[in-house]
Amino acid sequence: MPSVAVVGGSLGGLTAALVLTDAGCDVTVLERAPATLEARGAGIAVLDEAVRWFAEKTAVDPDSLCSSTNFIRFLDARGGLVHERAHRYRFSSWNTIYRALLAQLAPERYRLGHEVAGLESSPGGVELTLTSGGRRHADLVVAADGISSATRARLLPGVTPEYSGYVAWRGTMAESELRPGTFAALSDAITYQVLPHSHILVYPIPAASGSLVPGQRLMNFVWYRNVAAGAAFDDLMTDSAGRLRSVSLPPGAVRREFVDRFRADASAQLAPVIAEAALGVAEPFVQAVFDIEVTRMALGRICLIGDAAFAVRPHAAAGTAKAAADSWELAAQLVGHNGAVEPALADWERRQLRLGRDVLVRCREIGDASQRHGTFTPGDPALILGLRGPGR
Ligand SMILES: Cc1cc2nc3c(=O)[nH]c(=O)nc-3n(C[C@H](O)[C@H](O)[C@H](O)COP(=O)(O)OP(=O)(O)OC[C@H]3O[C@@H](n4cnc5c(N)ncnc54)[C@H](O)[C@@H]3O)c2cc1C
Repeated sequence: MPSVAVVGGSLGGLTAALVLTDAGCDVTVLERAPATLEARGAGIAVLDEAVRWFAEKTAVDPDSLCSSTNFIRFLDARGGLVHERAHRYRFSSWNTIYRALLAQLAPERYRLGHEVAGLESSPGGVELTLTSGGRRHADLVVAADGISSATRARLLPGVTPEYSGYVAWRGTMAESELRPGTFAALSDAITYQVLPHSHILVYPIPAASGSLVPGQRLMNFVWYRNVAAGAAFDDLMTDSAGRLRSVSLPPGAVRREFVDRFRADASAQLAPVIAEAALGVAEPFVQAVFDIEVTRMALGRICLIGDAAFAVRPHAAAGTAKAAADSWELAAQLVGHNGAVEPALADWERRQLRLGRDVLVRCREIGDASQRHGTFTPGDPALILGLRGPGR
């Protein structure tokens, strides 16, 4: 089986490393961050594929990493129930899943402070150059370097991120700080509110300590708000230090005037229980929503996985699951082709391009239904989260 360099050690890269190691590859992860990663406050809905490795290969029960809820609810602006259905979802935090994956990988396989600056693919393998000046060789490179992937830019210079026209305002607060009635209303559901050309959703995630005990967890919100491309977008994305950010503003970086406007809108527009969960967040943060569609996922002996390939809007909660699915299929193809990299990549690419395109189109339709067309409808089965289709 081939030696593999995984570029990027976030959720996609770590899952790739674990799955490919199990398949018999000799894997090293190269992560540019100098210290183990921290994503303050990001909750994620967890689809089965995202935690498949724990379920199939370890004694770690995925449920021990996730909070769960039993209902989908939609509220109106006064807090009245618009729609409710019984449906179980699992949620976690980026940090919880990252720590759990990292703990499963041999430490010498995870190299921090290793930023890849260049890649040269030849029939004999891939030569990688590091920013530090170091060089490495691998039979196969798996680029899991995320939405701003330099590998994608290098291999596919014609592919550009397409801004969707809206951003996600996000944040978490301690469940224990919610009023008892609000806690009771929100603690066992994903709770939506549809607004004109917008929607918000709220769900509980594990505490920073990993605690899953109701009342000790965090309440997470995601509010999709339209911001016109150009001057308005650049203004929002210019942080409190005056620096223009391209993709996200971390906690503490959103300028005061925007946080004040966000809070005023939350007070005026949101159902009282949802408003409480949004207003209780000390430092809301912002992630711009993009579509990135690639036409190739494998060139030579280099492949793109996760957000480095297709970055899809978050409405199916499929990002982490898609990255994991890319890795599982890659491992299967390598095994099926007895470790022969090029034929394995050719078969892998065909399948994963189809998966990426399908989920991209579906998520774009859901996002546009909400943010452009006003057709995002409470109770629409198409809104059920899932990688391969609603609920799948
Ligand atoms: C608002 C919002 C909500 C979301 N909600 C969900 C959800 O509920 N569920 C879900 O599954 N997904 C969700 N997602 C998507 C999810 O966050 C991503 O799809 C997923 O984290 C992709 O992970 P990745 O490993 O591909 O990339 P990333 O997490 O971006 O990781 C890329 C890594 O590569 C490293 N890197 C970059 N360049 C180099 C280099 N040159 N050398 C070495 N290392 C490098 C970076 O430091 C980073 O660690 C959401 C996204 C958004 C924006």
